[in-house]
Amino acid sequence: MNQHHIQVTVSANNFKNNISHIRDRVTPSQVCVVMKANAYGHGLKALAPTAVAAGADYIGICTNPEATIIRELGLDVKLLRLRMALPEELQESIQSLNIEEQIGTIEAALYLSQAGVRRGKNIPVHINIDTGMGRSGFFCNQIEELKKVCSLPGIDIVGVMTHFASADGKDLAFTHRQIEDFYKARQILQNYVDYHVLNHTHNSAATVRISNENNRLVRVGAACYGVRTSQDFENHPELKPVMSVKTRIAQVRIVPKGKTIGYGSLFTTQRDSVIASLPVGFGEGYPRSLFNKGIVLIKGHRCPVIGRVSLNITTVDITDIPEPVQWGDEVVLVGTQGKEEITFEELADKFASVHTEINLMAGFMNQVNYV
Ligand SMILES: *Cc1c(COP(=O)(O)O)cnc(C)c1O
Repeated sequence: MNQHHIQVTVSANNFKNNISHIRDRVTPSQVCVVMKANAYGHGLKALAPTAVAAGADYIGICTNPEATIIRELGLDVKLLRLRMALPEELQESIQSLNIEEQIGTIEAALYLSQAGVRRGKNIPVHINIDTGMGRSGFFCNQIEELKKVCSLPGIDIVGVMTHFASADGKDLAFTHRQIEDFYKARQILQNYVDYHVLNHTHNSAATVRISNENNRLVRVGAACYGVRTSQDFENHPELKPVMSVKTRIAQVRIVPKGKTIGYGSLFTTQRDSVIASLPVGFGEGYPRSLFNKGIVLIKGHRCPVIGRVSLNITTVDITDIPEPVQWGDEVVLVGTQGKEEITFEELADKFASVHTEINLMAGFMNQVNYV
């Protein structure tokens, strides 16, 4: 069945080129393509083969069902879990999914160690060091605990990692402090872990902005989807957006001055206006909070969203478009039309959220076409 009212399009080719660009930038470092949350809403199952073809050494996931998708596809790629696991998740992972787990507590380390000993086969793990993200991991000064982890049987330490809290921010001072603390802890561990253990710290923003020469792996999500998380991405025009979202005009109407529009009657026309109704709303993942803030493209012009975004209807003011506009005409919610572009980052900025949230909603709530 064709879906007429919204077209969410994902370019596997742009995804592939973005990964290749990152690979070229960080080589000889390995690349973990982060595909958690259904590949940030772009579709894990559809894109995982592309990631591997583009040279991903690792795919970053969070849940066991995500890992299962990769394993069922039979892809020759390592899996890295990007958060702490539940005991049940570990059990399944050890039995059949072969996910490289991160450990941030002695408790989790012992669990994996004992499982490895029982199986007679070492389990690969990554030590997570908390240098400032504050969500998980060993603190840099927990040296005794870290040494203990290194001495446990049944596990192979294959990586030591940390995660940046604000590598996309204006000021990189905090990130540099995180890097310093990471290498201090890493230096102390030098005598306890194998020399070819992978250090990894860099997410997308860091990969674009800060040298990775001391690391042998980067973990990149946003950049692979062409999302620009900081100004410095301007220096990487090779990174192209992967998802676009379009709809069409369901109705054009002339609305006289002084009428209110939408739930709550929060918008009043200040002039005789031409208003287009779009057949999408937050039921299609277009954020409700774009009320009086969103922008769409029609005939290559930026048109403001007016009034509340409803569940399945959004109203836009098209009074200022000089060309005739008709029922059924194309509307770009995210993407390019003529000379104009609306990005997920721009929309996210408008309601103090993050691009991924909109990517996710669009990808989860609609049928996705891959080109
Ligand atoms: C999600 C995640 C990443 C990827 O972050 P991007 O900013 O999308 O590149 C990297 N590392 C960890 C631990 C993550 O959870």
